Amino acid sequence: MAVLVLGGVLLVGACSSGSLGSTQSTSVRQTLAYSLLRNPRVGLANFHVSGRRDKATAFENMRQAERGQRSRRSAYQRAPGGAVYLDTRMLWGMHYLTRSGWSFRVTELAGGSHSEKSSHYKGTAFDADYINGVKVGSGNPHLKGFMRKCRQLGAREVRGPGTPGHRTHVHVEW
Ligand SMILES: [Zn+2]
Repeated sequence: MAVLVLGGVLLVGACSSGSLGSTQSTSVRQTLAYSLLRNPRVGLANFHVSGRRDKATAFENMRQAERGQRSRRSAYQRAPGGAVYLDTRMLWGMHYLTRSGWSFRVTELAGGSHSEKSSHYKGTAFDADYINGVKVGSGNPHLKGFMRKCRQLGAREVRGPGTPGHRTHVHVEW
């Protein structure tokens, strides 16, 4: 049984001998997803910026992870369809960002259409368009600190305004 202390609240994950045959890492993922869905510092978009409608929004992706399922990818433009487990390092990273006082809105996890080999399709990246309540843009005063904290938390790629295609969002990848 996986037991985690998140935000001072003791959470008990799904039993590893459950009928779903879930592994320990699945339980950690479920527990983190459960916590992030209820974390007031994390917004999860229930739409795609593209306007497409499917079951692969950031909110739906987190709900799927909470249920122990693979999170769905979109299937339009360059998005390949199918589903993938959200990376637990990324979920820990999101959790620790909030523990450091950051708040943000996630626009995409595994869903949406990105570049062809995008890490979103591997479940290892998230996009954020609001940081501490301020829209992401070159003038956002929280931008640099947020991006620095992401790198400190192990993100291997962090891109934002100034990088082509990232004028209005930050891409964070593990
Ligand atoms: Zn991205």
